[in-house]
Order: sequence, then C-alpha cells, then structure tokens
Amino acid sequence: MSEQLVIALGGNALGSTPTEQKQAVLEAAKHIAKLVKEGYKIVIVHGNGPQVGMINLAFELAGKENKNISIMPFAECCAMSQGYIGFHLQNALQNTFYENGLSTHVSTAITQVIVEREDQAFQNLTKPVGIFYTEAEAALISKELGYTFVEDSGRGYRRVVASPEPVDIKEKGTIRCLMENGDVVVACGGGGIPVYRENGLMHSIDAVVDKDKAAAKLAEVINADTFIVLTAVPKVAINFGTPQQKWLETISIAEAKQYMLEGHFAPGSMLPKVEAAVKFAASRPGRKAIITSLEMAYEGVTGKNGTIITQDI
Ligand code: ADP
Ligand code: MG
Repeated sequence: MSEQLVIALGGNALGSTPTEQKQAVLEAAKHIAKLVKEGYKIVIVHGNGPQVGMINLAFELAGKENKNISIMPFAECCAMSQGYIGFHLQNALQNTFYENGLSTHVSTAITQVIVEREDQAFQNLTKPVGIFYTEAEAALISKELGYTFVEDSGRGYRRVVASPEPVDIKEKGTIRCLMENGDVVVACGGGGIPVYRENGLMHSIDAVVDKDKAAAKLAEVINADTFIVLTAVPKVAINFGTPQQKWLETISIAEAKQYMLEGHFAPGSMLPKVEAAVKFAASRPGRKAIITSLEMAYEGVTGKNGTIITQDI
C-alpha cells in the first residue's frame, strides 16, 4: 500500500495577497507533484493567517461604512479563507499535474475541527485577530457582541480569541475516503473551523486552532503514516540563531521533549510544530514526523533532509 502523508504547508507557501498567492502555490504544486509521481497519497493542510486577517478586516471596515454589511463571525471568515485558498491550490495542482502527465484529481474539504468548550484556552484568550480599535470603540463592541479586547503594545485595542487544542476532525471520514481514492485533498485549512459539540450538535465558535496542531491531529485520525511540516527552514535547530546553532537530524520523542523544556523553539513559530510532530509520532509505533522546507519536501520524505521525530529509534 502506498505511503500516506499529511503535509502542513507554511505561510511562505502562500504569500500575503491573492496575486502573490496564485504565483506561490505554483511553486508548492511543483514539489507536491514530485511526491504524487512517486505514488504517495497526500492531504495538504495550509495556514491562513494573512488571508483570514484580510477577510476579517474587509468586513469590519465595510461594516463601519455601511450598516447593510453585517458582522462576519471569525469562524465564517475562516471558512471563506479555506474556500479561496483551496481554489488556488486546486487550480495550481491540477495544472501542474496536467503538465506532468498525471491524472490525479484534487479536491478541497471545508473542514471543521472539534474543540472542547471546557478547554482552558477559553478562559485565557491569547490570539489577536482583526483591526485595532480605540478604547471607546472596543468598549462599545464588547458591550454589543461580548468580544474581549486587549490593549496591544500602545497601538490600540484588538480583539482576542482562544487558541484551543484540536480533539477531532469532523470531516475525517470524507477526507480519508478521498485520499484512499487517490485524490490529493486540501483539508483543515487554517487549522480548521473551530466547532464544539453540545447535546450531539455541532456549533461554531470564534477561535483559532494552530494549523500545525490541527494537521497532526488530522494525520492521527485518518491514520496517515507520516506527518510532514513544510516551513521556511530545512531543519529544526537547537540554539537557533546563535553561534552554537546545531541542526537536528533524527531525534527521539524524549530528546524532542527535552529540547522543548530547555526552550530551544520559539513559541508561536517552531514550538507548535515540534509539539505537533511529537504528538503524532508518539500516537503509535511506526508513525514519523518530519520538519523541513518546501524545497526539501521530497528529500524530507525520502529521509535525505529535514528533522525526523520518531519513537522507533
Ligand atoms: P509557518 O508559516 O511555516 O508556520 P513560522 O514562521 O510560524 O512558519 O515558523 C517557522 C520559523 O520558526 C522558521 O522560519 C524559523 O525562523 C523559526 N524558528 C524558531 N525557532 C527555531 C528553531 N529552533 N529551529 C528552526 N527554526 C526556528
Ligand atoms: Mg506558523
């Protein structure tokens, strides 16, 4: 059976504007086509920081000008970003496959990620989203909509939402089915649309799930063999950015945990990647996680580059 990969694509694979993105996805498509050609089955999870920020901003500004434009909840903004990024990835991958004589289909699953309402993250909102407001504006919106605002380093007031842990992926069955059928599937974009279960029903909630953590959870629940994070660096380092910097090759889960404790990985960038990689690799023997750059995707998967985290050493 062919090896099944879940790939988490970093922000550098998309750029910041729609025009930049259309160009950038062609580069990502080239590297993914190389893996498809070798017979790997692939699910792609992409980030959406700049894109969801732009959509949210557009609605907030337009709503200030025109009362007919209603508030777009953050969860809906995330769904919109999954739609248009999915379209760009589908189009770039389909064209690249065509040029390479591959008949592989590509599909995008609008994906909901299940979180727990009891997650401690909902008591301690940490993720800033949207535009800056004055103190008075923030107080008014807070009263009207119940949003929480924080003062952000002298620049004004900004809404904060929770960043809860992903516990399951609602569309996992569909995603697995498409992948087994040979489709390249784009799923769980931006970490997924956060939903929680109440009396059996799913409700959306304004929050942001870290895309690397959501991707690792997806890899786990669809039973993928390998979880690969493609970011801006070919390997993970200890003492990163210092004269003592050392790139890591294959490391055990215990070593990765030790380095996390020692503070080698920046919170908000490399730390969630290593945490996600460890979680996936520890979830079952035989599962491995790789962190490398987009350019090194093929070398990473074939063990010639990147940092590998596994329990099997
Ligand atoms: P992405 O968009 O792929 O999620 P991030 O910028 O969030 O990218 O995270 C990747 C970045 O983390 C790297 O480009 C690097 O600058 C930084 N980084 C922080 N700590 C480390 C480390 N210990 N080893 C390697 N890179 C690190
Ligand atoms: Mg990141």
